[in-house]
Amino acid sequence: MESSVTSPIKLPVVTTTTAAPGGEPVPALKPPVDPASLVHRQLLGGDFWRKIPAYRDIDEATFLDHKWQAKHTITRPDKLLEAVQELVSPEFIADVRDGFHRSPMSLRVSPYLLSLIDWSNPVADPLRRQFIPMGSRLLPDHPKLDLDSLHEQADAPVPGLTHRYPDKALFLALDTCPVYCRFCTRSYAVGIDTDQVEKVHLRPTQDRWERAFAYVASRPELEDIVISGGDAYNLRAEHIEAIGNRLLDMPNIRRMRFATKGPAVMPQKILTDDAWFSALVGVVERGRKLHKEVVLHTHFNHPSELTEITQRAMNRLFSAGVFVRNQSVLQRGVNDTPEAMRLLIKRMSYLNVHAYYVYVHDLVKGVEDLRTTVDTAIELEKQVRGLTAGFNTPTFVVDAPGGGGKRDCHSFEHYNRETGISVYRSPNVNADAHYLYFDPIHLLPEAGQKRWADPAEHDVMVREAIAAARDRRR
Ligand SMILES: *Cc1c(COP(=O)(O)O)cnc(C)c1O
Ligand code: SF4
Repeated sequence: MESSVTSPIKLPVVTTTTAAPGGEPVPALKPPVDPASLVHRQLLGGDFWRKIPAYRDIDEATFLDHKWQAKHTITRPDKLLEAVQELVSPEFIADVRDGFHRSPMSLRVSPYLLSLIDWSNPVADPLRRQFIPMGSRLLPDHPKLDLDSLHEQADAPVPGLTHRYPDKALFLALDTCPVYCRFCTRSYAVGIDTDQVEKVHLRPTQDRWERAFAYVASRPELEDIVISGGDAYNLRAEHIEAIGNRLLDMPNIRRMRFATKGPAVMPQKILTDDAWFSALVGVVERGRKLHKEVVLHTHFNHPSELTEITQRAMNRLFSAGVFVRNQSVLQRGVNDTPEAMRLLIKRMSYLNVHAYYVYVHDLVKGVEDLRTTVDTAIELEKQVRGLTAGFNTPTFVVDAPGGGGKRDCHSFEHYNRETGISVYRSPNVNADAHYLYFDPIHLLPEAGQKRWADPAEHDVMVREAIAAARDRRR
């Protein structure tokens, strides 16, 4: 600290004054803020869905009905065309049809999500990019990519239960979701088979669940279970209760999180599926009595996914004592600018959603157009830290391919921005291993792109990176 004893205390320069209501003018230490500039509070409201031809006559009660949302969810390009009609060109639909056939994920878009897309420019729209593939935008996969890049299956003692870290495990209760995300890390399992991928199915069966529970009960070191999938939104109310209570009954379990993308794509369910909502609240309340934490983890990626309907849903959860944390996936053209990321974080904070993680996009098949570089994540973190409360500021992580788990993106042992290779260590997972992440080739400087164009160079670059990481620690 500077010695404030000997030097006079400097006061900030007062540039302007504002009047307190009914009182003396108070000096303004910071320039005045126009409330209209606080755009994170400007949530989309009204019957915004009516601009979609298929929903022109849909009233609010219908639009808020989760059953109506589920029933009218779009799973094929021709159904998409039926809904948006003259809002899109025939070329766009042909492009989507092509993308649909070449994509590892199936299509699944709720009316809510469809209504939030800017159909005057669907190509650039951040929601379209996440959920609706376009053949013309696809890029070749990175040569180092493999389908289960996180090795979730290799780390699974029973199918659908990944035990990688010492005290926590990931339980994949089912393999369906209320939406299918192009960028899904679990495209090896989640969703129906596509032209591109025949999946490893993780059905919600009592038998598979029992094997997972028996394993969790047999491991005293496990204290924390992530219940994911697929998606907890697609679990029936009685399944939420059964899973929640089964785990709460185990003395070793202290923490539990139900993971769902639902609030981002269909907040209506929180408002109108009372059985599901009550089941969740019941588990949270019982957990609280047992001094165990049960929270909801969700997955907002872009500020336009949060509307007045989201606000009502988040308020309902908050009033019932359900805490919500968020994990975003960093995607090019979606949330890779400081403006988008700041607005997302501020808007979530405003609705009591804690920004927990931002993941550097995993190496996933068929979505090279959405990935970006570790360098981008590092710069964004700098841009958002200090913006708001520390607990609302996400940690930017790389989920290290090969099963290294989540690493703070800044903690690399070595990062070569030319080859795009970063090297991480993960002492709690494996003290000796090096884990490598690969930036997308098309975003590398020309020299790096040239090296990747030559297959003989691939292993040379990998060896160089690992050697540089080792050298650093000598
Ligand atoms: C992400 C993850 C967890 C939970 O990790 P946190 O950092 O506590 O959120 C647990 N197990 C696996 C396999 C994971 O991928
Ligand atoms: S909701 Fe989650 S699990 Fe389901 S497709 Fe999207 S990213 Fe994958």
